[in-house]
Amino acid sequence: MAIQPKHLSNLEPWQDSNAQPYVSIKNLTKTFNGLVAVNDISLSIYRGELFSILGRSGCGKTTLLRMLAGFEPPTSGKIFIDGVDMTDTPAYKRPVSMVFQSYALFPHMTVEQNIAFGLIQDGMSKSEIRDKVSTYLELVQMVGYERRRPDQLSGGEKQRVALARSLVKQPKLVLLDEPLAALDKKLRERTQLELVNIQEKVGATFVMVSHDQEEAMTMSTRIGLMNEGRILQIGSPTEIYEYPNSKYVANFIGSVNLFDGIIIEEQSDHVIVKSTSMGKNLYISHSASVPVGAQISVAIRPEKVMLTTMQPKEEYNWTNGIVKDIVYLGDVSIYHVKLASEVVVLATVANLVRAAERPIQWEDEVFLYWRPENGIVLAL
Ligand code: ATP
Repeated sequence: MAIQPKHLSNLEPWQDSNAQPYVSIKNLTKTFNGLVAVNDISLSIYRGELFSILGRSGCGKTTLLRMLAGFEPPTSGKIFIDGVDMTDTPAYKRPVSMVFQSYALFPHMTVEQNIAFGLIQDGMSKSEIRDKVSTYLELVQMVGYERRRPDQLSGGEKQRVALARSLVKQPKLVLLDEPLAALDKKLRERTQLELVNIQEKVGATFVMVSHDQEEAMTMSTRIGLMNEGRILQIGSPTEIYEYPNSKYVANFIGSVNLFDGIIIEEQSDHVIVKSTSMGKNLYISHSASVPVGAQISVAIRPEKVMLTTMQPKEEYNWTNGIVKDIVYLGDVSIYHVKLASEVVVLATVANLVRAAERPIQWEDEVFLYWRPENGIVLAL
């Protein structure tokens, strides 16, 4: 699912206890007339990261970004950028540039004039401006569009001009508020990769707000998942997907099967869970810091669930049911299997053969099984 950005492989400063954060948010809170939009958030973002703040509408992500930009004063808490306290610094004095969802281009100016605007205001010489504009036009692949006005550009092209305009002043920190939201799905997917490439080339730190989990998974070094003004989990896309720390996170990132149960055995290398909704016990081959008797939930991703018509011989980690739906998505199909407990389990199966040749069809009785390392124990 996730296309891992190249920079993930060699840049993980958050693992390094000596690394200094580039952006440091400390106990930041924002209330609007008694409504807590951002609730005591502390967060460190490192140089060169593409950090996504992800969450559904109204969770407070834009408010957090606007406080970073200096457009919204915090109710309490502090913001440091490169070690300097910026909490009371006005927006125009911060080393920050913002890319808006609506692009906010000047409609009466050409592409070239839009990109040059900030440089002219800074009093830069004409020849320097020409050089810079041409460098950044090339970077965002918009050479040849210099004389067009925004209304003569597509959504993707406008987005690239907006990005060039915010990068041309070489900000150290770029804040992006749902930058790809106005693009259609295909263009959006292509632009995601372009944006990551541009970020790698310019080396700036990007903080992006998104409600789209696939987009955040594809582009980010790390994701901070927000709900109701708080950050629930911070981690790389793989960590958040493979090791969600709560039912909320597991459900938000991709689809997931959840079995409620009770821990009946707890050892350093495994736990055994009794689940009435599954009808069998689950063996999970890693420790979980919850005691015997604790009520928990076990999450298993649909692509980790395998289907067969033969009853497995193992004692644990399988169940059986009836196929009630097969959702065909081209490359994969999602089987909906109803268990005796009425719980429906999803299994994603790669379409290796044509539909008519598939051995498992509607109303078939099937067995579902998974490997012991693929269960994730979540506190309720
Ligand atoms: P969306 O994805 O819809 O933009 P969001 O996660 O970015 O949502 P915010 O815009 O940060 O959410 O809003 C968080 C909460 O704060 C919401 O309940 C919103 O109504 C409220 N809010 C935001 N700005 C203001 C404001 N200026 N005055 C009063 N309430 C506000």
